[in-house]
Amino acid sequence: MDWINKAAPTHRCKVCGALWRFWRKEDTHFSSMDSWSLVSIACGKCCDMETMGEQIEYLTIGEMEKYIIACHAVDAMTQHILGPKENDRVN
Ligand SMILES: [Zn+2]
Repeated sequence: MDWINKAAPTHRCKVCGALWRFWRKEDTHFSSMDSWSLVSIACGKCCDMETMGEQIEYLTIGEMEKYIIACHAVDAMTQHILGPKENDRVN
């Protein structure tokens, strides 16, 4: 996953565990309304196109950090498995 180009999650669905990013309209240039974008690969019916309410909870800073570290760990592992690419050659 290319975490760097992805917004960090701010919320989590208590039902399916999907991670969401909440955008306030003040922070976006593309929307005149508050909006949500899915950070996880998939989510359940509980939050897919549903009104965000009871099923959604804020991530604490500590939780956010955990998810970000986990993503970096996965990236590092993937890179290790794939090995260096041709262009990475040290001269
Ligand atoms: Zn959900």
